[in-house]
Amino acid sequence: MDIKGFIQSSLLEWEGKIASVIFLPGCNLRCRYCHARHLIYHPERLESVPLDQILDYMRGQGDWLDGAVITGGEPSLHGSELLELIRDIRAIPLKVMVETNGTRPEWVERLLSGGFVDAIAMDVKAPLTREDYARVTGAIVNVEDIRRSIRLIKQSGLPHEFRITLVPGLVGRDELKQIVPELEGARQIALQNFKPDLCLSPALRQVAPYSVDQLEVFRRMAAPAADRCVVRGRDHAPLAASRPA
Ligand code: SF4
Repeated sequence: MDIKGFIQSSLLEWEGKIASVIFLPGCNLRCRYCHARHLIYHPERLESVPLDQILDYMRGQGDWLDGAVITGGEPSLHGSELLELIRDIRAIPLKVMVETNGTRPEWVERLLSGGFVDAIAMDVKAPLTREDYARVTGAIVNVEDIRRSIRLIKQSGLPHEFRITLVPGLVGRDELKQIVPELEGARQIALQNFKPDLCLSPALRQVAPYSVDQLEVFRRMAAPAADRCVVRGRDHAPLAASRPA
């Protein structure tokens, strides 16, 4: 399997855990705020990180490392190779979290029912209509697949998180109001402030992210739907807007 990026240890990707982060190439979406341009366009131009090197590193960490996060791109595109990678990591033994865009529920089901993951995180990009998903992801998505992935994850009993990226003019108050009821009963919702620099859409690079105050309003809107609701990326908020009046 081609692995296109590796972070030895991160405290940010899996809350409460010290985890390595493994980046797999390719994605079936083209989200306008995506920062993984290098992974979704021409990943073959990126140098691969040898799997043996990654596994050796993780084996050498003993109790210092809790697990590995497998992200992308969209990891489920790698199908059985993804499952093999997970088996290798769990044999160390380490815990595994997979991040997905939820467009391939059959693979979400495989990961969950096969006991391949200890936790899962899924992006929910837009209200669950074909038009809204197309507007945000630049792709035609079967939103019933998204709905099915959400349901499978909520019913899994595993630690899980649904992530919503907030972008002024693209995903804001109205969109959040429509997305949140779909997530009712979730363990955790994470609201992510978008980062304008280097995102896929040149137009979005000119857009100022939401202020800290606005993010807090959004957090209060989403909080009743989940056991816990967190905000990430407050530091992307424009400084002037983040100061109290
Ligand atoms: S799902 Fe969207 S944000 Fe994630 S890698 Fe694919 S295009 Fe980028």
